Amino acid sequence: MAKPEQQMQLVFIPSPGVGHLAAMVELADLLVRRRPTLSISVLIITTPSTAATVTRYTDSLPSTPRIDLVHLPNTDAPPAAGGDFAMIETQKPRVREAVSAVITRSRGGARLFGFVLDMFCTSMADVAGEFAVPSYIFFTSAASALGFVLHIQAAHDGEERFDVTEFRGTDLAVPSWASPVPRSAFPTNVTKKEWVQFLYRIARDIRGSRGILINTVREFESHAVEYLSSALKVYPVGPILNLKGGGDDAAGGAAAEAIEWLDRQPESTVVFLCFGSMGAFREEQVREIARGLEASGQRFLWSLRRPGQGGPRASPTTDYENVGEVLPEGFADRTAEVGRVIGWAPQTSILAHRAVGGFVSHCGWNSTLESVWFEVPVATWPMYAEQKLNAFLLVKELEIATEIRMSYSSESGEIVTADEIERGVKKLMEKDRSREARLKRFSDDIKKALTDGGSSSSSIAEFFEDVSNCGL
Ligand code: UDP
Repeated sequence: MAKPEQQMQLVFIPSPGVGHLAAMVELADLLVRRRPTLSISVLIITTPSTAATVTRYTDSLPSTPRIDLVHLPNTDAPPAAGGDFAMIETQKPRVREAVSAVITRSRGGARLFGFVLDMFCTSMADVAGEFAVPSYIFFTSAASALGFVLHIQAAHDGEERFDVTEFRGTDLAVPSWASPVPRSAFPTNVTKKEWVQFLYRIARDIRGSRGILINTVREFESHAVEYLSSALKVYPVGPILNLKGGGDDAAGGAAAEAIEWLDRQPESTVVFLCFGSMGAFREEQVREIARGLEASGQRFLWSLRRPGQGGPRASPTTDYENVGEVLPEGFADRTAEVGRVIGWAPQTSILAHRAVGGFVSHCGWNSTLESVWFEVPVATWPMYAEQKLNAFLLVKELEIATEIRMSYSSESGEIVTADEIERGVKKLMEKDRSREARLKRFSDDIKKALTDGGSSSSSIAEFFEDVSNCGL
């Protein structure tokens, strides 16, 4: 008779904020469905600025057997120096206590096998070590972006003492990329001395981990996955997407009306514009977008958000109370037949809609995977973080996107003109059979990945195989 499978317990630690938490919960959900003997405790670190949205999110979740959401006591405001990283350090005693409690509760049942940490919590590996279990990392962006960060860290720590912030060449050969990466596509933060040190630290921690789960698909990022696999244990387990319309509740009545409007539009004729949870423009740029859209003559659905308090990315964007105050005079009347402007968008429901034929996107990794899943071609307009790299990947390496810009930063204050936007939107909506064929192939690949025998299903099996050798 086969030996009964050992009950397995994992501890997940996302960094503060609902985006990180939601990604970890999706991963936890995927893993417990695949392994009936697995239980996961998700330790939730809450700061004063994240408490309300985190509670709203966790309250909205259905309770899932074998996933336990453990709210750690609220932290005080993050210490000024070192920001989030220093704050994560202060959480270690609370994490220790919570993990001890998890072990006590499951005594005689599940054994603790390991921690899964998100990329800003990698220093929690110390705590895992105290419990004599290994840490895995969950990397929520592209494998090619991970390859980029690992490369600049290795080049910095190696003999050449490469300093990416001083790099003035036009491009850089990075082994996880098929073509050299132009300097203009480097992530915004690697050009800042104070930030790059944190990235190096994260990269070293990632190298020191037992393995890396990545929200990607082997066939979609074959070059990067192959390269990373030659040096590290990587598990491409994507696409981990929230396709159940997670954003729909946050979208208001205007969004519901916009979906009804989409129902009345011909197939593949509407261009959708959306720039992620932190993407917003100053008023001058908003007006250029409006003029460009109007001049393009295309049907459009535009998710327009007000910048958060304290400048780009200091806090999340919000909806305008009266969007008319930032749009050119008469814009809404002139475009009433062909367009809609809304706030927070039910993005996946929109991308799934047959009327949508193009997506002007900031190229956040989730939006990227969603666009490929729904086979909607993208025109790139990166805003922050590693989005310029993702834009380069889509336009140049995979040739499935066109560009409005490949290099842009919301911090730079530069203006993309109405002319550029008009041209970019028209190009996006032109028929391009070879681009469509490539996009369809990748879309089929990522839809197959988590089915039986798919590449991500195999990676999950390999991950469990590895974890099984680690129990306390
Ligand atoms: N999203 C949405 N409505 C919006 C803006 C974003 O539903 O108006 C969702 C989008 O579908 C995606 C996520 O929020 O799942 C944004 O993640 P991404 O990695 O693309 O960008 P980030 O917000 O992290 O920059």
